[in-house]
Amino acid sequence: MKVHAVDLELMGTPGVVGAYFIPSETGHVLVDCGPGATLEKLYAGIKKLGFEPSDVKHLLLTHIHLDHAGAAGRLARELGLQVYVHKNGAGHLLRPERLIESATRIYGSMMDVLWGQFEAVPENQLTVLEGGETLNISGLEFRAFYTPGHAIHHLAYFIDDAIFSGDVGGVRLQGSSHVVAPTPAPDIDLEAWRESINTLRELNAKRILVSHYGEFGDLEAHWKNLEKNINDLEQLSLEVMRGGGGREEIAKRIEILSGQEISTASDSTMNTRYQLATPYLMAADGLIRYWTRKRPEALL
Ligand SMILES: [Zn+2]
Repeated sequence: MKVHAVDLELMGTPGVVGAYFIPSETGHVLVDCGPGATLEKLYAGIKKLGFEPSDVKHLLLTHIHLDHAGAAGRLARELGLQVYVHKNGAGHLLRPERLIESATRIYGSMMDVLWGQFEAVPENQLTVLEGGETLNISGLEFRAFYTPGHAIHHLAYFIDDAIFSGDVGGVRLQGSSHVVAPTPAPDIDLEAWRESINTLRELNAKRILVSHYGEFGDLEAHWKNLEKNINDLEQLSLEVMRGGGGREEIAKRIEILSGQEISTASDSTMNTRYQLATPYLMAADGLIRYWTRKRPEALL
């Protein structure tokens, strides 16, 4: 299978948010589409590869966060394509008011700059999945796996020898071996995340394509580094909370940890780009919510 990463250059920054384009004579396939704000980048990227956006017929969403699915409604309207999503996220695509409202609470005036317009996906253009399905689309066989941990509406797709891991496979930028678990509120569940890693690991894939950003072939090292990061985040957030600290302190600890793990030798923008992919204060919020809602007994 031939697959192309399309760099959406979020906030003008390359190598942070991407969509995947799989060409097929019977209708191209996208895995995630990024936010509405970068839709023109997506179209331009597809054209640059020598294809027409109007020939994209299917959009497989890993989850409905705006950096992955924000442009889905507009693509459904402009290209008439079919959108695939986990059942726990379907309602938000059909009726996005609440999603927009809660994102606006978080991002405020940055909402438009970061994410742009968000439109509903018409019901007849939405295919709702649970995970466990095998989809035959455009001459390709996709297997969908329910992979919670980062979000309760997260799917990973397996095709050929490749896993499209959305965010459950972590954030890892090109040129780095550091894999970070992005932990924004409200669904973080570190136990479920570990199980999802095991589900994907058993597929014995040859390559993993993460949304932030790109393709990697060293799967075993990748999973190990992601598991280590999950353990580190678990431990540092628990320590801070048991000591009575809050989000700033957790965010600071994550920043220090990342600074130790990320090699900036080859690229001085590495730290800032990791932080753009998973802002540390937001990551802290998600971890705090995880402990207080899911494992309050650990805080005693
Ligand atoms: Zn993401």
